[in-house]
Amino acid sequence: MSQLFQDFQPIVAIATTPTAAKKLQPLCQATGATLWVPESLRDFESVEVYTGSLKTHVAALWQQNRAFIFCLATGAVVRLIAPLLEDKSRDPAVIVIDEKGQFVISLCSGHQGKADQLARLIAHQLDATPILTGASTALGFPGVDILGVPFGWQRGEGDWTGVSAAVARGEEVEVIQEAGSTLLQVATSATSSVARGRIWISPTRRQFLPESKLPEVQWHPRVLWVGIGCERGTSKELIETAIGEVCRSNNLAEKAIAGIATIDLKADEVGLVEFCQERNLPLRTFSAEVLRMVNVPTPSTVVDKEVGTPSVAEAAAIVAANGDVGEQCLAPLLVKKQIFKSENQPGAVTVAIAQSQLEYTGRIGQLLLIGTGPGQLNQITPAAQTAVAAADAVIGYSLYIDLIAPLLHPGQIIEALPITQERQRAKRAIELAQWGLTVAVVSSGDCGIYGMAGLVLEELRAQGWDGKIPGVQVFPGITALQAAASRVGAPLMHDFCAISLSDLLTPWEMIEKRLRAAAQADFVTALYNPRSQTRTQQIGTARDIFLQYRDPNTPVALVRSAYRQDEQITLTTLEKLLDTPIDMLTTVLIGNQSTRTHGDWMITPRGYLGFDSESGGS
Ligand code: SAH
Repeated sequence: MSQLFQDFQPIVAIATTPTAAKKLQPLCQATGATLWVPESLRDFESVEVYTGSLKTHVAALWQQNRAFIFCLATGAVVRLIAPLLEDKSRDPAVIVIDEKGQFVISLCSGHQGKADQLARLIAHQLDATPILTGASTALGFPGVDILGVPFGWQRGEGDWTGVSAAVARGEEVEVIQEAGSTLLQVATSATSSVARGRIWISPTRRQFLPESKLPEVQWHPRVLWVGIGCERGTSKELIETAIGEVCRSNNLAEKAIAGIATIDLKADEVGLVEFCQERNLPLRTFSAEVLRMVNVPTPSTVVDKEVGTPSVAEAAAIVAANGDVGEQCLAPLLVKKQIFKSENQPGAVTVAIAQSQLEYTGRIGQLLLIGTGPGQLNQITPAAQTAVAAADAVIGYSLYIDLIAPLLHPGQIIEALPITQERQRAKRAIELAQWGLTVAVVSSGDCGIYGMAGLVLEELRAQGWDGKIPGVQVFPGITALQAAASRVGAPLMHDFCAISLSDLLTPWEMIEKRLRAAAQADFVTALYNPRSQTRTQQIGTARDIFLQYRDPNTPVALVRSAYRQDEQITLTTLEKLLDTPIDMLTTVLIGNQSTRTHGDWMITPRGYLGFDSESGGS
């Protein structure tokens, strides 16, 4: 199963006819869905069989699954799920696919249930059309109720329907952002005078008046680090009450809590550990040596004597909010320490809160290293297309981003960078993935052939990556030599090699050595990066080296911008190679001693000496 479908698990697929089951089988393999069929289809492989009515069965599966894929008439699906639907914030995603596999309908829970996104990914997988009918899709807006999801923001209270409706009507909505990432440029920002709705992005918990005419909602980026100090044996309930109380009295949303910070001595404090598990919050612990370096408003000599630092709660909150100790601590305390005791609960707890600049996403990032082929969309593998659509952020050279524009959708962060900044691009991608985003890094052709995959992996290794987090997946693409070859026939039919003439990262002596070796060994040779505006001599030298070993009439193909609008193809010979303009968009294919041209075609025989005996057939 591809990691791309991780966020949707568990997924159920349902087929009631043999055609539908055949359609869904490979999809289930790709998505990790469980395929359910009636008894009549029990002979199908890798299926689960339900008995009795489908209606009862769907009802039984409804609560435990996050997505349903039906290959069934839409009407039938509507009748099946109608009695089960409760609320768009809780209902699972419901997708319908027709038996021919031409359409993938996002039927229910398009936003919060992620059905729209799942439908998009499945459509790429099946080469089908996704049917998304939500208004925000057409407006180029990610949807009021999902825009913070990539950053782990939590939805707070508010009139979500009212603000979404204002956006859908094309009305202005004011966005007031007080915390969190500004990577996503929210397109509809307006001033308060014309606004018909308002979105707050903040750790503050606002109470909206029910009679207010202006619908308002609030997203809470997780920027609050709660520092805790407590006596041994303090109960989970007391910790919970204390944090709740501190948040309430300071108008802070509990949903904006990033995590809990304390001293390492408390890493096994039962009440604290239970509280974190229940709320799914990280527990960050620091040593007394680290904590004592922090300047805090309320130090205590008693605490210092006991644990070796004058502050636990305040210092831990500040350190956690800063990411690490650093030279000087920047994140200020938002709430000074407050002490709680209760007659009914054991222990005592101290709470302090600091606010971080960067929100905690609570997600494990992924790097999708994607080859997008030579140019045309239909030369990109469905897996790579799915990966581009699955990404929260897409990073690449602007020309390639333009070529894949139809695969992008509102809500994705697009970072197009100039061609020369490959290393910065790799570093940026890693930074975003370490923060928790799913990041697509796109290269033309294959990303592992003079592409970004190597740069990203090299950089990860240099940073001491453990090989697992962030996760990495590589999606192959059609490389330039294959694309170029296909346009002139079959020049790569026998042993071949690729040599890049760019000496930016490789010493020229090494390149020359390889050219000589390839020429001598009679490899068909593809030259990448043959010539740039400043690097003009190398292609001439390469030609001269080949002429020492090969006939001047050896066929050569110059393929420029294969599969792009400005494609140019020239068939020539080794001797005349320099008569045609060659640039950085060209791939040069030099034939071996048996390569011949035939009209507009360049053909390298499958074997040598004019007969096929060593080719092993086919
Ligand atoms: N990762 C890419 C190669 C990048 S190096 C791949 O696998 O194809 C850039 C070089 O690739 C260019 O200088 C050119 O030689 C070649 N190239 C890339 N796209 C091409 C295309 N559409 N047509 C011809 N050559 C291309």
